[in-house]
Amino acid sequence: MLTRDELNSNRPPREEDGGAPKRETRILVVDDEEIMRAFLQEVLSDEGYAVDLAVSGRDAIDKMGERQYEIIITDIVMPELDGLSVVAAAKKLSYDVDVVVMTGYASMETAVESMKLGATDYITKPFNIDQIRIIVSNAVKERALKRQAAEGEFYKELSRKDGLTNLYNHRFFHQLLETEVSRALRYNRVVSLLMIDIDNFKRFNDSHGHPAGDEALKQLAALLQKGSRSCDFVARYGGEEFAIIAPEAAPDAARRMAERLRQMVDEEHFEGEEAMPGGRLAISIGVATVPMQAQDKCELVERADQALYRAKALGRNRVVIYGDDAVN
Ligand code: GH3
Ligand code: MG
Ligand code: MG
Repeated sequence: MLTRDELNSNRPPREEDGGAPKRETRILVVDDEEIMRAFLQEVLSDEGYAVDLAVSGRDAIDKMGERQYEIIITDIVMPELDGLSVVAAAKKLSYDVDVVVMTGYASMETAVESMKLGATDYITKPFNIDQIRIIVSNAVKERALKRQAAEGEFYKELSRKDGLTNLYNHRFFHQLLETEVSRALRYNRVVSLLMIDIDNFKRFNDSHGHPAGDEALKQLAALLQKGSRSCDFVARYGGEEFAIIAPEAAPDAARRMAERLRQMVDEEHFEGEEAMPGGRLAISIGVATVPMQAQDKCELVERADQALYRAKALGRNRVVIYGDDAVN
């Protein structure tokens, strides 16, 4: 708990209990009774929270619009707009706020109703100082946990992505492929892998420089993502190589998908593509499918790669399915 001296000093607030610094936790107390407002203001300010007061439901709704609150503690029974209206208004806000309602024994049903509307908790009057301290500190801790969980999700997603293109990165691609291939083998399903490589990309970089090449990579990544189904996983495999895992795509479907993507890229305009052979930025694609052409993940990657190599050898800007001809 922050002491009054710490509160009054200019030092940055301490994190405690893994929660938010208390001075940053702003609470709005809503009650039509002056004595209750004064009581809560004293208790909560002593605890180190920043406290604002509202004298009615209307006043509360106005204040919620003016600044952001982490927690609102509201009386249920008030003339005109009651506590339920405050809960409903708080849930419509663009920011996330927790509402604790205060209720007398006579209005327990209203407390239940307020929880259904989205209130976080309720406290029955009369309550003592410790009860209000605990209920508020629980709400604060709960908020900190939720925020940590959301941040964890964010960083997890970030660690799976390639910084330039925002596609899945090489490492996560291999994890995904492992999962999808095992699933296909276990449940007798199919999964196809498309290995994609930009044709003559060195020429593009040599003509326009690396930053322009990066722009083209980003544009291509977005196009591949747009041209794939939502259940497909599009990844940046390496420098100018991409890979798409297409669950449930049998060889014919995978061929159609690859051909469609190749055509999309061929038709797309890329700034500076005049420098490329044929005046176009184009891609070659190699395709292989589990279980028809490969029995495990390594074999699948190897065979899609061999098909890609074949597409290059046959003149680029084309799709080759592993096993398409005898040379494979
Ligand atoms: P091919 O048709 O045989 O694939 O020819 P290529 O020139 O695309 O192939 P090569 O493997 O010889 O060269 C790949 C080039 O891709 C080398 C490099 O200039 C470029 N490249 C690879 N990664 C990046 C990157 O992250 N950014 C940029 N701008 N260029 C990259
Ligand atoms: Mg290459
Ligand atoms: Mg290339």
